[in-house]
Parts: sequence; C-alpha cells; structure tokens
Amino acid sequence: MSQIAPTKVAETDVLVLGGGVGGCMAALGAKAADPTLQVTIVEKAWTSRSGAGAAGLDHLRPIFSEDLEAPVDPELEQRFVDAFERATEGICEPSLLRIVARESKDRVAQMERYGLPIRDGQGHMTLVPGVGLNFPAVLTLPGRNFKPIMYRAVKQAMVDVLNRHMASDLLRDANGAVVGATAFSVDDGTPVVVRARSTILTTGHAVRMYRQPTGQPYGTWECPYTTGDGHAMAFRVGAELTGMEFPMANGVPKDFSTSGWSGLVGVGGYLINSLGERFMQRYNPESLERAPRYQCILAILHEQAQGRGPCYVDLRHISDDRMALFFRGVANERPVLLEYFRARGIDLRKQPFEIEVSELQAQNGGSAGVVADEHGRTSVEGLYGLGDAQGGLGGGGAIGATIALVFGWRAGLRAAEDVPQRKPAEPLDQEVAYALGRLALPFQREQQGLLPAALEHKLGQIMAEYVGMNRSERSLRTALERLETLAEASRELCAADPHGLMKVLEAQNLVVVSQMMAAAALARTESRWWHRRADYPQRDDVNWRRHLILRKEDGHIAVSARPIGGLADNATADREAPPCSIAAAPIGPSD
Ligand SMILES: Cc1cc2nc3c(=O)[nH]c(=O)nc-3n(C[C@H](O)[C@H](O)[C@H](O)COP(=O)(O)OP(=O)(O)OC[C@H]3O[C@@H](n4cnc5c(N)ncnc54)[C@H](O)[C@@H]3O)c2cc1C
Repeated sequence: MSQIAPTKVAETDVLVLGGGVGGCMAALGAKAADPTLQVTIVEKAWTSRSGAGAAGLDHLRPIFSEDLEAPVDPELEQRFVDAFERATEGICEPSLLRIVARESKDRVAQMERYGLPIRDGQGHMTLVPGVGLNFPAVLTLPGRNFKPIMYRAVKQAMVDVLNRHMASDLLRDANGAVVGATAFSVDDGTPVVVRARSTILTTGHAVRMYRQPTGQPYGTWECPYTTGDGHAMAFRVGAELTGMEFPMANGVPKDFSTSGWSGLVGVGGYLINSLGERFMQRYNPESLERAPRYQCILAILHEQAQGRGPCYVDLRHISDDRMALFFRGVANERPVLLEYFRARGIDLRKQPFEIEVSELQAQNGGSAGVVADEHGRTSVEGLYGLGDAQGGLGGGGAIGATIALVFGWRAGLRAAEDVPQRKPAEPLDQEVAYALGRLALPFQREQQGLLPAALEHKLGQIMAEYVGMNRSERSLRTALERLETLAEASRELCAADPHGLMKVLEAQNLVVVSQMMAAAALARTESRWWHRRADYPQRDDVNWRRHLILRKEDGHIAVSARPIGGLADNATADREAPPCSIAAAPIGPSD
C-alpha cells in the first residue's frame, strides 16, 4: 500500500479518545451536560467489546450500602481512603479517592438504570469484603455485558462513534491548547483530522512493553490494545504525567496469562511453595494472601529466588458454597480460565495449581498517567484525562472501573461545560502536517525495513532485564541508553497496510512510555509500593512521599516533584526540584 486515502476532516464539540469504560461514561456525561452538543468517540477497536472491560467486569467498589440513595457514612469513607493510602504506600490523592468513595454509588445506580444486573431475584446485592477493605464494600455482579450495556446507552444518547479508528496525535492551536486529534481507520487507512473544543483522553492502560513469560507477545492478561497511546500523545503535547515509576504484575496460571487473582484471593485461596508451606506467613502474617498484590508478587519472586519454587494456589480447603461463588465469577469474567483447568486436567478440589508472575506493565486504575484534577482537567488547556490513562490518584486495577466511571462522568460534564467559552478549534497547520506525516511515512519506507514485532521483541527484553522488580541506577541508565537507540530505530518502522500502521504507532508509543518509566524509576531513589530499587531498598518518606512529575521539555523528559495533595488543583500547583540527581533524561528522536 503506497497510496493512502484522502484525509477526512471532521468537527465536534467534545472529542473522546477511547471508547472504554471511562470513555463511554465521559461521552454520556458530556451529553447530559448539554444534549445539543456534538460528542464523538474515536475508538481503536469496537466500543461494545473494547478495552480492559471488554470481556466483562465482576465487581465494583466501594459500595457501602444496598440503598444507593443513602448518603455515604463518613467513617466508611475515611476507612476506604485509609485503605488505599496503605495499599499504595502513600502515593495517592486522598481528595480524589474521597470523590470515588462518595460518587461510586451514583454511577452504579446509573449503570443499573442502563440495564446492568446488580441485584438478585429478591432485589439484593452481594456485598463482600475485598483486598484492603475488611468490611463489605465490594459489589460482586454478573457484569459480562458491561460494555454492550454501556454502548447501548452511548448510542441512545446520540453520541457519534468512530469505531476501528486509532487516535494518533493531539493537535494544538497557536496558544498551545489542545483542539482535537488525528486518527485513521484501521480498516482502510483513511486519515481523519477531528477538530474539537474539548478533548478527553481515555485510552486506558499501558501494557505490552515487557517480555511475556509465555513468549506470546499478545498473550497478556490485560487488554493488548491499550499500549499507552494516550500517555505518549499527552507527553508529546507537553502534558504532565505522574506515577510512571510504578509498574505492576499479576499472579497468573503457569503458561497462561489470564487474570483471576482477586477471585482466587477473594475466595480464600492459599499461596503455597514447593515445600507446601503457606509462605505469606513469612511476609505478611496478618493479612496473608489478602495482603496488597505487590507484597504477594514480591513474596512469590523471593520464594523462587530462594529455591522454594514453583509456587501454587491451593483451593482444596474451600467450602462448596464459596467454590460455587468462585466458579460463578470466573465463568462470568474469564470463562477461558475454566477451559485451561480442563485442558490441563487440573481438579481444583484435589490439587493446587502452579502460578507464575506475569510480565510487568505500567500501573493502572488512575495510578500512572496524565496528571488530572477533580474535573479531569490536565495541565494543558482543552485536554482532559482519566481512568487507566490517569496517574497519581492511586487506585490500582481492583477499582479501575469505578474510577473510570466516576471521573469519566465528571470529565464529560466539565468538558461540555467548558465548550461555550472556547473559540472554534483551529489547529496549527504544522501540527496537522506533522501528524499526517506520521501516518503516511511508514507506507513509504523500504518494505524490507524494520517491522514493529522485531522492535517490540527488543523492547520487551530491555524492559524485563533493566526496568524490572530489581532495578538500580546502573540498570536504569543502561535501559535509558538502549531505549534511546530503540527510539531512533522506531523512526524507521514500516507498514504494508493499515493494521501494520497501527502496529508501527503502537510500537513507537510503547518506546516513549518505556522511556518515561525508566526515567521516573531512575529519579525515585527509594523503594516503595511496586517500585523496588536494589540500591535504595528502603522506603524514604522524608524525601519521597510525593508525586514525581514528568513533562517534555527541550527534547528531554523533565522531572519534578509535587506534594501529596498537590494534584487535585494541578493547574496552579508549583513544581519542586526532585530530591535526586536526575533532573532530566533524554527522550528519543521520534519525539
Ligand atoms: C481482565 C480484567 C478484569 C477487570 N475486572 C475489573 C472489575 O471487575 N472491576 C474493576 O473495577 N476493574 C476491573 N478491571 C480494570 C478495569 O477494567 C479498568 O480499570 C477500566 O476498564 C479502565 O477504564 P478506561 O476507560 O480507562 O480504559 P479501558 O476500559 O481499557 O478503555 C480504553 C479504550 O481506549 C481504546 N484505545 C486505546 N488506544 C487508543 C487509540 N490510540 N485510539 C483510540 N482508542 C484507543 C481501547 O481500545 C479501549 O477501548 C479489570 C481489568 C482487566 C484487564
């Protein structure tokens, strides 16, 4: 394919990039604020089954009472905030978490009105305790059709949806405000310039930059299409990002990367080593397997390093009733896991099954991504961000959907309310030309050139070896050097068709996100939560109980810091020098 189709130009009031859980809610919020506005979703996949919630969701939290109209008990609200402060070792925004505690019931009630089944035949909810919450605050539900239900609501609200269109770059006007984006059809390659008065970034998580233990590049337990495109796009236009030093992983069945951790822990499964010891007694005797996930993952890695691996999950002691609850949850959200047990001949009532630590990814659930305030406003005028593409809030995956619902709604309302004050969108010609060039060039390069799969393979090796769970100054500086070379190589990637173009842009974005992850990890000279430095093994609250902020400046990743509590009003917050030697790291030539 040497010729691409002519560019289409579209105009909208509110542009939503990403039609996942947060994107759908943002579009609905914008329409609720003003039904006369034109609201457009641009979605890489197909909105009814896209993103991390594609296969369904099985829980929402926090829900403190079956009466969704009752005010939230201030004591429970505080216990919820405290639980997340503990779980993140303090890297969170309490005021934003408080909003989640107060408003999640409203969004769940809204989803019920759209048709989400949240109650049994007698009208009752199933509320159970969960990781970090030792009182009933987790609503378990048969949420297999979560996304189709949202999609129906979006269509009924007359939101325009461009399915199978990948957003590639944000566009700015002469004042530096974001005024839309470029995208292209992943089916026929048609480029699109969408001008917008408000642009909401909700492209989800950043995964796929670490080597997979299974060797299958797309065999991640997360959604393989969320490749940090929004993180990279936001970075390119100078938005601030935070939390990029915090990766995450999951405990997954051996050779089969699928989620299910919350279900296994929630039902009461034991983690045992090859000696049959319930090893969490060594690491967190109080919470055992209900310890925060990072502690369990570190414990598994330590057991393996000490020669007591492989590690297993043991469900043999679980009552029939609780096993039925477990099977219901798995059948709802991850039916393929049942196939895995069947194919391997594993009878969970009779034998433990082996697990391994998955590949790392960036943190999700509002923990690693753009800095955004309580209305989703980022540090760049006209741009809003939320959900898995947001950083600093400190939710994590187990609450990711609720965060996306709550802040999707808020950002949608605000983005719509801001529309009348904004002038018609006029992106700079050079920005449009540059963005369209990025869509055209991969087709014009030598077809025998570097393919995205080869680059991603190398990226996975670099990230796993140097930016893993045992990082150090030496390993991180090595990573940054090698990533710079890879960024240079990423300019040469070629594509033969629109699908190939998507892969090229994904690979380029993954390199940028990886550079941010390595730079942030180098800057944070302590060990905390998922960020483990071999050369700084202790947590350092005096210097480091603060957010690390990244921003593009003069071809570098500029690093600064901000106190906890300083993100909720990010438009006015001052930046401090970080307490470390690195103030900036080079960013690759592709950016
Ligand atoms: C298997 C699994 C089970 C989970 N279960 C639960 C649960 O039960 N409860 C819970 O609270 N959380 C759960 N989570 C987490 C939750 O699903 C996410 O936190 C939530 O979906 C985040 O919403 P989001 O809108 O930010 O991202 P997503 O819902 O992932 O949506 C991002 C969207 O952006 C699109 N996109 C990406 N790049 C581009 C681009 N360049 N252009 C256009 N579109 C793009 C993607 O295709 C996707 O549709 C689960 C996650 C997984 C992986």
